[in-house]
Amino acid sequence: MFNKGMKMSNSVITVGAGPAGMFAAYELSKKDIDVLVIEKGKDVDDRTEFEIMSGVGGAGTYSDGTVNLRPDIGGDLKEYTHDEDKAWELVEYIRKILKRHGMPEPKRENLEKEEELKRRAASLGARYLPIIQSHIGSNKAPDVIKSFKKELEDDGVKFKVNTEVEDLLIENDRCIGVRCKNGQEFEADFTILAPGRVGIDWVQRLTEDYKLKASFAPIDIGVRVEVPSIIMDPVIDVNRDPKFHLYTKSYDDFVRTFCTNPQGFVVKEDYDGFIGVNGHSRTDIQTENTNFAFLVKLKLTEPLEDTTKYGRAIAQLATTIGGGKPIVQRIGDLRDGRRSTHSRLRRNSIQRTLDDVTPGDISMALPQRVMNDIIEGLDMLNEIIPGVNSSNTLLYAPEIKFYAKKLKVDENLETSISGLFAAGDGAGLSHDIVNAASTGVLAGRGISNRLK
Ligand SMILES: Cc1cc2nc3c(=O)[nH]c(=O)nc-3n(C[C@H](O)[C@H](O)[C@H](O)COP(=O)(O)OP(=O)(O)OC[C@H]3O[C@@H](n4cnc5c(N)ncnc54)[C@H](O)[C@@H]3O)c2cc1C
Repeated sequence: MFNKGMKMSNSVITVGAGPAGMFAAYELSKKDIDVLVIEKGKDVDDRTEFEIMSGVGGAGTYSDGTVNLRPDIGGDLKEYTHDEDKAWELVEYIRKILKRHGMPEPKRENLEKEEELKRRAASLGARYLPIIQSHIGSNKAPDVIKSFKKELEDDGVKFKVNTEVEDLLIENDRCIGVRCKNGQEFEADFTILAPGRVGIDWVQRLTEDYKLKASFAPIDIGVRVEVPSIIMDPVIDVNRDPKFHLYTKSYDDFVRTFCTNPQGFVVKEDYDGFIGVNGHSRTDIQTENTNFAFLVKLKLTEPLEDTTKYGRAIAQLATTIGGGKPIVQRIGDLRDGRRSTHSRLRRNSIQRTLDDVTPGDISMALPQRVMNDIIEGLDMLNEIIPGVNSSNTLLYAPEIKFYAKKLKVDENLETSISGLFAAGDGAGLSHDIVNAASTGVLAGRGISNRLK
């Protein structure tokens, strides 16, 4: 029905079957609009746990599946709804749909302890963000996606998997469809770009080829902190992935905790030209340590706005200093202005969970401003979580989160090209499941507004 030359009116193509593309399809199909979802990865039944980034369900299908039911974690929905209540309504809308498809009811326990954390953070000028979270779990997530896909198909949505979109079809300055790598062309009234993080380079190419308006997003640079689990347990008890937001004294920079892995592992990540660190936890093997990312947000203006270039330069320097491996340092050594060594690490009370590292000096790799923010930030955090900045705490670097360039969109989430809409992580509009899904809903609503 979408084949070139056979276009029907009121039709939409979404590129990508992640949360953004699927929720856009949901919104449109409920309004009897024809939708074709084109996905370069496999169908959800055929995916394996090694195909993390691509396929029906999108990235993270085989992850922990932690659903953060907040509009200001993993993006900021208020930017698009222009109203805080409407942003929360959107999150509630997503929750109800996911629940119908098997997402467990979110738990919020230990309300008294949560109040206490909020109070302690507030007394330091920091914020603790209580989050209502649901854990779908990696074993259950594919079932939730299958059930959601079935509802979409029952409502007439068509899926075309194993098909990569290569280019847009532009006629008279308007997007009229897409061309796929296999040569097939599909036409529709509207197209939604929702290709997720794996699609960042492709979106970048489209911005250059079609002069799509976009801006650089801020970058998160910092370290992964590893402490004995008992230090974090009282906070983990309240929330498995506690979010603290702080502003540092010297530079007034924004620093946050992110991606906590109770009894987990620090892991090395290989990128094109540099290395980095991340963390994960496993259900089968647990360690005695807990790790979390501690990240400083930096935005650049003149003369260099390109935060990706800046982040890469820092990551490359860290990779050089670490001899191709992440650097690990004890806080005590950092404070004393000396590098960590294998023998000091052997004597350390905390044994590291990542072996493939170079004991060294993180301050040789990260900019002074970032180091200052990390040290001051950990001092503040220590007032809330006593023991977190003990001399034995391990810091691994570099941990850098690159974000997609943010496409400029209007209130309907239409880009600077008429007929082309955007949603999700690949367009730089979100960083998590709920925010990606919400921008998909907003793009769907934007298109139905336009059809009116
Ligand atoms: C390992 C991992 C764990 C995560 N854990 C969590 C978590 O616990 N909680 C949370 O909230 N978030 C988590 N995230 C983030 C979350 O998965 C993403 O924020 C979310 O999936 C973004 O949704 P999206 O629809 O924008 O993009 P995606 O989910 O990335 O989906 C985009 C889809 O588009 C397809 N695509 C790309 N380019 C093309 C093309 N040219 N043609 C056709 N198809 C294309 C891709 O194959 C992909 O399937 C995790 C991410 C990863 C990688």
